[in-house]
Amino acid sequence: MSDTKYIFVTGGVASSLGKGIIAASLAKLLQARGYSVTIQKLDPYLNVDPGTLNPYEHGECFVTDDGAETDLDLGHYERFLNEPTSQANNITTGRIYSNVIGRERKGEYLGKTVQIIPHITDEIKNNIKGFGAKYDFVITEIGGTVGDIESLPYIESVRQLRWEMGKENSLVIHLTLVPYLAASGELKTKPTQHSVKKLLEYGLQPDVLVCRAEHEVPRDLRDKIARFCNVAPNAVIQALDAETIYDVPLLMMEEELDKVVLERLKLPIGDEPALETWKNFLTKFKNPSKTVKIGLVGKYIELKDSYKSIVEAFIHAGVANDATVELEWIHSEDITADNVAKTLKGLKGILVAPGFGERGIAGKIATIQYVRENKIPFFGICLGMQCSVVEFATNQLGLESSSRETDDQTEHPVIDLMETQKEVTNKGGTMRLGAYPCEIKEGTKAHAAYGSTSIMERHRHRYEFNSDYLAQFEENGMIASGINPETGLVEIVEVKDHPWFVGVQFHPEYKSTVAKPHPLFVSFVKVALEN
Ligand code: GLN
Repeated sequence: MSDTKYIFVTGGVASSLGKGIIAASLAKLLQARGYSVTIQKLDPYLNVDPGTLNPYEHGECFVTDDGAETDLDLGHYERFLNEPTSQANNITTGRIYSNVIGRERKGEYLGKTVQIIPHITDEIKNNIKGFGAKYDFVITEIGGTVGDIESLPYIESVRQLRWEMGKENSLVIHLTLVPYLAASGELKTKPTQHSVKKLLEYGLQPDVLVCRAEHEVPRDLRDKIARFCNVAPNAVIQALDAETIYDVPLLMMEEELDKVVLERLKLPIGDEPALETWKNFLTKFKNPSKTVKIGLVGKYIELKDSYKSIVEAFIHAGVANDATVELEWIHSEDITADNVAKTLKGLKGILVAPGFGERGIAGKIATIQYVRENKIPFFGICLGMQCSVVEFATNQLGLESSSRETDDQTEHPVIDLMETQKEVTNKGGTMRLGAYPCEIKEGTKAHAAYGSTSIMERHRHRYEFNSDYLAQFEENGMIASGINPETGLVEIVEVKDHPWFVGVQFHPEYKSTVAKPHPLFVSFVKVALEN
């Protein structure tokens, strides 16, 4: 196929209806039919990227190979499609404005008045078309809900694009909610009608309506929606609540979402989608032969989306081990040396999560001392790894040590700021970000997991293991099993004479997908099962 087709996904009635999952599911089905697909998310907020956002705002910040700090929906795209995304896959209003204003300051608009239309909308359109002819489909998910002031320029850009590229080359899917009123025992279509009217006001006619509902939407109700919204009856599709997000591609296939899309874009439907791996994964996921309880220690656990990729990586690793991982969420601020034994009782493995700042550090360190001494499998990610280094320095090397992040006067900064970070004052986009190589020593737990001596993993941090102390650590039983071959930075630490104690400076969770569960998560779950 030569010409790229553009699919826009908008949302109406309410937020959090799962546009990202619907977009990823459609992409999965098209991919399984042999088409090449990428998914892009346009976010209507003014932050240039979500890197400066507290996880309580929108959940985890997902990091791509090229070092983009992005919306967590990109994690779903990668987990579903098993293909890397990049900066181009997530654009915010902040970035659009910053690009336009940057050009204005350089005088590139040659004295013209710079306006939302055409300058902001042109910048949006260029970002949508920026993938060139690389894909058969570009699916663009527009964040927010139709009617929000902040998403207007995006809707307007889609209106212009559809006009410019011709209706046959693009399609709009509108996701709405069909609520159930328990008192009258009825499903209601009016909110959907209103939300489509709102889209029409902006000049956009949806081609497909995906209706989220808690109850089956019967044929006559779908016909009614079709009639009121100028949509073909077979293009009114229901999306019932699913048991797991991984069911959604199959539910959408039953509803023929992919067929409707291909038909409308006049493309061959071909054979049934190749979804064997996906279906096998689901069968195993739903029929595990065992269960293992793992503790997740973090300080943002009130909002589970803060650890989205870690949770999903455990699902993938569980399936790879024919098991269900039951996560026990433990607030790091609740843990003390006195209650740690009681709190961790019955858990077969402990993951200490990434994070920033001082809050909850003491609890993380008390946890790590306990699991190290009691030989409970331990997995530390980023800040979790840094805490394991401080704990080891304090309790095994007898150093009055700390991370420079929590104590800049510490005598022994075993975790320190890199030279290149010392001059940095801006917070946005200035951490060590994206994929870096790591060389793994043979005979280590990391090597056993990866089965390779050379890997690439994604980073997002400012602080590093202070190599001045490396010899002292290694003499006393904590080794560096992974080193960055270019900079010599320590990327993985392990404690010897322990069933599995691995701390990684990078974020392995970002690379775990349904098709490729992450080897470190798979190994960690395996030892936890044996524990
Ligand atoms: N706060 C630590 C740093 O910046 C760890 C960051 C993280 O866990 N992602 O180095």
